[in-house]
Amino acid sequence: MRSRRPGAAPRAPPIPPVPPVPPARAAALRRRLLAWYDASRRDLPWRAPQGAADPYRAWLAEVMLQQTRVEAAIPYYRRFLEAFPTLEALAAAGEEEVLSRWAGLGYYARGRNLLAAAREAVARHGGLPATPEALRALPGFGPYTAGAVASIAFGVRAPAVDGNAARVLARLFRIEGRPEERAVRERILGVAARLVPAGRPGDWNQALMELGATVCGRAPACGRCPVEPLCEARRAGRERGIPPPRRHPAPALLRVACAALWRDGRLLLVRRASRGLLGGLWELPGVTLHGADPARAAVRRALRRDLGLEASVGRELAAVERQLTHRRLQLIAYEIRSVRPVPGTGKPPGKSVPKPVPGTEHRGRAGPAGPAPGMRSRPVPGPVPGTRWISPDALEGVAISTAVRRLVEALAAARAKE
Ligand code: SF4
Repeated sequence: MRSRRPGAAPRAPPIPPVPPVPPARAAALRRRLLAWYDASRRDLPWRAPQGAADPYRAWLAEVMLQQTRVEAAIPYYRRFLEAFPTLEALAAAGEEEVLSRWAGLGYYARGRNLLAAAREAVARHGGLPATPEALRALPGFGPYTAGAVASIAFGVRAPAVDGNAARVLARLFRIEGRPEERAVRERILGVAARLVPAGRPGDWNQALMELGATVCGRAPACGRCPVEPLCEARRAGRERGIPPPRRHPAPALLRVACAALWRDGRLLLVRRASRGLLGGLWELPGVTLHGADPARAAVRRALRRDLGLEASVGRELAAVERQLTHRRLQLIAYEIRSVRPVPGTGKPPGKSVPKPVPGTEHRGRAGPAGPAPGMRSRPVPGPVPGTRWISPDALEGVAISTAVRRLVEALAAARAKE
């Protein structure tokens, strides 16, 4: 046996072959599952018979469903379509407008990619292209989204395997192991590709996902499953062990200290850079805390660095917590008692002031940190790019995350009590 060179990376174990899919079994699975889907599928606003689906709507629904449950996605889907009824309308929209309609769904990079892909699809293809390969060249399209749109909207024989479909296929073919591991994933995808029928590929993909969402969940209801006689996991008594329970590491805590800077009943917001976590959204000026960082000093430093302001930071006014996908976000807002420009500077000296966003700069009057009622300081020259003053009751149409919205509401409530 050949030994490994010292220091060489261990070779990945070979991927076991894709389980066989005999034609008779594939035909029986398709017949049973599609009949069940025709009779039992949920009536959802984006659903349409094979051949009648609108590509844009199918795509929008798939992207939203990747990050939220069906019931939660429906109102977002409707509101988004009211604002952007067609692909062309979306392509012509501004990022701020799109992100404000996306706000609350999380994964804001998906909202930005949606806009970028719409623009590219209209410019290069005059609409969404029909093949998975061309779709995958658009921003934000992975194999799942490309397969779903191609099969549902264009009738292309392409698999679309989300978490629900992966669980169903793993059980039907008794594929042991974690679907997130490459070897297991490859086997599931191999089976999926062999099963997609030529006639109703989109309905088939949706039927698999529907079965996973409504019958073959983590605790499967095998007694009412249309494909139970064909399920290998059920036959082996392994339906509850496939896939194995996921290990969920404790989410990391992200603590952000924010500045609550009021002027004439309005709060100062700054815009985050376009990329990265919550990119392009508005928020209170602030800073991520590390370890035992003293929060007030951190806020003072952040205002000086990012906005060119010397601030007197007071007590904690409000705090909110929100669970993101892999993190717990804690926002703590501190009172800003007074501000003045950093001596000797007519403009912000910091490196991380966001780039100007057309149409969103603060215009006129004093700059972003003009005097709040009762402040001791003089007006600060402005404007600073990417800042705006906003009243807590005028947040409609502003691209802010749910956590920041709640923080602004909590600050408004605390102010009303004073
Ligand atoms: S028989 Fe049970 S485990 Fe198998 S596909 Fe149906 S619900 Fe899932």
